[in-house]
Amino acid sequence: MHSGKSAWDGVEGPTEEQVAYCIRCGLCLSVCPTYKESLRETESPRGRVALVAKAIEGELELTRNFKDHMYRCLACLACTHICPVGIKPAELCLEARYAIEQVQPTPLLKPLLFRGIFPRTGLLELLTKPVALYDRSGVRKVVNALGVTGVLPSQLRDMERMLPNRLPWRGTRHQLPDRVLARGERRAHVAYFLGCVQGVMMAEGCKATVEVLAENGCDVVIPKQVKCCGMPMVGYGFKDEARQMARHNIDLLLGLNVEAIITDCATCGSSLKEYPEWLENDPEYAERAKQFAAKVRDISEFLVELGIRPPAGQVGARVTYHDPCHLCRAQGIRSQPREVLRAAGVDLIEMKESDTCCGSAGTQLITHYHTSVGILERKMDNVAATEAEIIASGCPGCQMQLNLGVKRRGLDARVVHPSQLLAQAYRKKKSDE
Ligand code: SF4
Ligand code: SF4
Repeated sequence: MHSGKSAWDGVEGPTEEQVAYCIRCGLCLSVCPTYKESLRETESPRGRVALVAKAIEGELELTRNFKDHMYRCLACLACTHICPVGIKPAELCLEARYAIEQVQPTPLLKPLLFRGIFPRTGLLELLTKPVALYDRSGVRKVVNALGVTGVLPSQLRDMERMLPNRLPWRGTRHQLPDRVLARGERRAHVAYFLGCVQGVMMAEGCKATVEVLAENGCDVVIPKQVKCCGMPMVGYGFKDEARQMARHNIDLLLGLNVEAIITDCATCGSSLKEYPEWLENDPEYAERAKQFAAKVRDISEFLVELGIRPPAGQVGARVTYHDPCHLCRAQGIRSQPREVLRAAGVDLIEMKESDTCCGSAGTQLITHYHTSVGILERKMDNVAATEAEIIASGCPGCQMQLNLGVKRRGLDARVVHPSQLLAQAYRKKKSDE
């Protein structure tokens, strides 16, 4: 028996106005990766809207099943962009997760992760050391050569294969200096936002972004005390912790008086630009969050606005580009990464459905393995058809998922951030001099 009260009565969560105007047209089903994979209404945007509506009416309780439907959404925003009446199913799912966490707080693991570990970059780096040791010590090479991972269950094997090919031993923030000076005429003074996944996994991409900024006449300050952008917390219903991260980053980065705050992570960029929404009811931070967000730029967006200095060198490789959901839909950035690639002198081959989600969504490979790899396989069909030797993408989560896709297919291709190719083109100029 239901009580007639919303399942999240008295706490912040999705409201009736957010679901009331769904006309059940089904347009969103045509673009939803989880629906295409499962063909189940409950894994579609329309189904998720209906589930949330029933929970608001008090006709559904927060059962395990209900929670799972909310957590299966990849937050890829494809439905939000196609809906003719402005329903935002991804936002509803994220808000429902926040409501669930308030009504039925998860014990142990999640609070440990999102309250204890993610806010502490040093601890995060320390916890990834055993994985880096496994890679850097040569054990990984031996394990792969002997085919040891072949006996593991497929999910574990894929989690191992998802790791980047060369994991940094020292966190990226220890490898980068505090400040890098502009080369040539100075054109801007910017801060580089070092996100946590790049910070522990993607040193080469981060270094390339800073190098490219300097090559384009930017003085770059790299504050090491930045905290996670907050998206992992929002994704798992820990919105209050995300707001804390936002306040910390605003105080730190606004205090630097830079012209722009640059990120090379699509997810970080979309979160940093959303701080005004996260903090709209915070009288102390609402205005500062707007000032902060106005300065945030994805690296490709910034370079195109500034005007890319043409490198003398050319990369000249066959490259295809995957649009991260948090870049193309959350921030409307589609042409700029392609302009960066063209400036690097690559032969850009467009794949079909380049803006369809790759199935990563942060941790879906761990939480919903079969859906995640099913979606990845469709993506890899399109990647393989281009016969590209390099796959470029501006999101560390997508890069890891695509790296897995390359290994599952046995493709002779590598996955990089677009900055890496532009940096390569600038370096060619130097080595040719
Ligand atoms: S969410 Fe939008 S697109 Fe999907 S069924 Fe409802 S009205 Fe149609
Ligand atoms: S955000 Fe993506 S996965 Fe989630 S309901 Fe919309 S289309 Fe489906």
